Amino acid sequence: MFDKLLARLNSFTHSHTAIDEHIWQQTVAAVPLLQSQDAQALAELRAMSGRFLAEKHFFGGDGLEPTPAMAVRVAALACLPVLHLGYHWLDGIRELVIYPEKFLVHREEQDEYGVVHERYEPLSGEAWEHGTLVLAWPDVVDSGLMSDGYNVVIHEVAHVLDVRNGAFNGFPPLPLQMDAGQWTVDFSAAFDALNRQLDADIEPLIDPYAATAPTEFFAVTSEYHFERPDNLHQAFPAVAAQLALFYGRP
Ligand SMILES: [Zn+2]
Repeated sequence: MFDKLLARLNSFTHSHTAIDEHIWQQTVAAVPLLQSQDAQALAELRAMSGRFLAEKHFFGGDGLEPTPAMAVRVAALACLPVLHLGYHWLDGIRELVIYPEKFLVHREEQDEYGVVHERYEPLSGEAWEHGTLVLAWPDVVDSGLMSDGYNVVIHEVAHVLDVRNGAFNGFPPLPLQMDAGQWTVDFSAAFDALNRQLDADIEPLIDPYAATAPTEFFAVTSEYHFERPDNLHQAFPAVAAQLALFYGRP
């Protein structure tokens, strides 16, 4: 009750951008994941997206100028995962950079002989520790289709939630009613099982990128929670149940 009152007071004091009706309707129509939300959730999501647009800075990379429609689509997809957790879970995001295509990130790796190898890796999205989300626009367009489990915006937002308690490790701070020990047991078992499947050349039910690190496992399974909960439930029912508690309506 008191929380609700505080939330209401906050909603009167924060800045907010009114989203153009036509752009909002076009955005919802273009993204099946948004269309699948009920009227109340969409109204809350629109309000939260308006706040996101007012508070976060949008930039373009490689000559792209983000249009209002692009920013609204990114904002709605970014706010959806925290619709029930609360907007403050996105406090860690300060700016968003949208590239017209996959962007190249410079990597340096030292091999066993101490030789440093440089390479450029093309990425669809990246979350930086100090509040920048980088996204490739074609991948944003491929997000929210509820077909292949792919959602680059939810993936990067999951990393932002993950690092809120200090490290990218697949263990975000949990709402009070959740059992942190059980979370660790369920996620560790599923992460190990996925790695064993891949070692045995068994085709996994979710994107094998999840097996690369616990933070990627959390980010990829978060994508499936929203995009293909059926696949996630079939692959890792205990993780599906944990994510339903984490992202769900309290
Ligand atoms: Zn990732």
